[in-house]
Amino acid sequence: MIVLTIIGARPQFIKAAVVSRAFKEHRPDVHEVIVHTGQHYDANMSDVFFDELEIPKPDYNLGIGGGTHGQNTGRMIEKLEGLMMEVQPQWVLVYGDTDSTLAGALAAAKLHIPVAHVEAGLRSFNRRMPEEINRVLTDHIAEVLFAPTETGRQNLRNEGITEDKIKLVGDVMYDASLFYKEKARRPQLPAELDIKGGDFVLCTIHRAENTDDPQRLKSILQGLGDSGEVIVLPLHPRTRAKITDYGITIPENVWVIDPVGYLEMVWLEANCRLVATDSGGVQKEAYFFGKPCVTMRDETEWVELVEAGWNTLVGANADYISSQLTNALLPRHNPYYGSGKASVFITAEI
Ligand code: UDP
Repeated sequence: MIVLTIIGARPQFIKAAVVSRAFKEHRPDVHEVIVHTGQHYDANMSDVFFDELEIPKPDYNLGIGGGTHGQNTGRMIEKLEGLMMEVQPQWVLVYGDTDSTLAGALAAAKLHIPVAHVEAGLRSFNRRMPEEINRVLTDHIAEVLFAPTETGRQNLRNEGITEDKIKLVGDVMYDASLFYKEKARRPQLPAELDIKGGDFVLCTIHRAENTDDPQRLKSILQGLGDSGEVIVLPLHPRTRAKITDYGITIPENVWVIDPVGYLEMVWLEANCRLVATDSGGVQKEAYFFGKPCVTMRDETEWVELVEAGWNTLVGANADYISSQLTNALLPRHNPYYGSGKASVFITAEI
C-alpha cells in the first residue's frame, strides 16, 4: 500500500518523524512516499530536522514557498495533483494546519483519494488565523481524523463530523518529546550568557497575528524587556525580518539566537524555568517538560492547559507579559495527551 505524506513546515517535520518511524516499525506493507512542499526552506527551518530526526529524505520537493497564502496553496494543489496521479497512493496523509495541509487534502479529495488528517479537531475559533481556515477545511475533507485531545474530538462532533471518522489517538508531539528527550543537545549560546542555574525564559514568536502587526510585536518585545528576566529567543526568520522592518529595538535582556534544531529546542525546554510563546507546539512541549507557559495570544487551541493552570494567555499586552514572566504558576491537574503511542495507533488505523 502506498501512503503519500505531505509536509512542508517545521512542526510537520517533527510530527511526521515519529509517524514515519512507526510505519517502518509496524507496517512493513506500507510504502511511504514523502513530499516536501518547500513551504519552509531555510536550512535551520528544514534540513536540520530531516538530518537530526532521521526522517527519510523526501522523495519529492516541490520548492514552493515565499509567496502569499493564495499563491502557495494554488501552486501546491496544481503540483500535488500531478504527483498524486503519477504515484497513485491509496492514502494521503496530512498534518496540522498549514497551506501544505490544505493543498494536499484538496488535491487528494478531488482525485477521490482518502485523506487522513493528523492533529484534527483543533480550533481557536478565530477565523482571521490562516491556520484556522486550513484546519476547518481539511477536517471536512478528510476520511479519517486523528484527534490529539478530547477537546479536538468534541469540536469535530460539534461540526457534524460523523463519529466513525474520528479517532482519538493522543498527540504525536508527545510521542516525539518522549522519543527525542534522550537525544536532547545543548545549543551554541553566546559566551556571555550564563544559564547554568536554569533561570531563564525560553521564548518563541512567529504567529502572523503578532509578527504582521507592528503594535503587537513592539508591545511583546517591550513586555519581555520590562520583565528583566534572562530570555533566550530562537528567532523565526519571519519575525526577524519584521523586527528589522518595523525598526524595533531588541531589549538587552533578550538573547536572540538563530532557530535551533528540535534536539536543541528540547534541551532548552527541559532546562528553562518558564516558556513564553505564541507557538502551538511549544505550548504543549512546555507542559511535557513540566514548565509553566505564558502564551502571547488572545486564544489557544490547547484550552485544557489553560483550564488546568499550566498556561496563561496574555495576548500582546506588555504589562501583562512582563508580570506573568516572573509569576510562578500553580497547576491544578495534568491534562492527558495520550500514552506516547499516538503514532503507532495512527499507522495501525491506516
Ligand atoms: N522548534 C524548533 N526550533 C525552534 C523553534 C521551535 O525545533 O527554534 C520546534 C518546537 O520544539 C515545536 C515546533 O518547532 O516542536 C513548533 O513549531 P512552530 O512553533 O513553528 O509551529 P506551531 O507549533 O505554532 O504550528
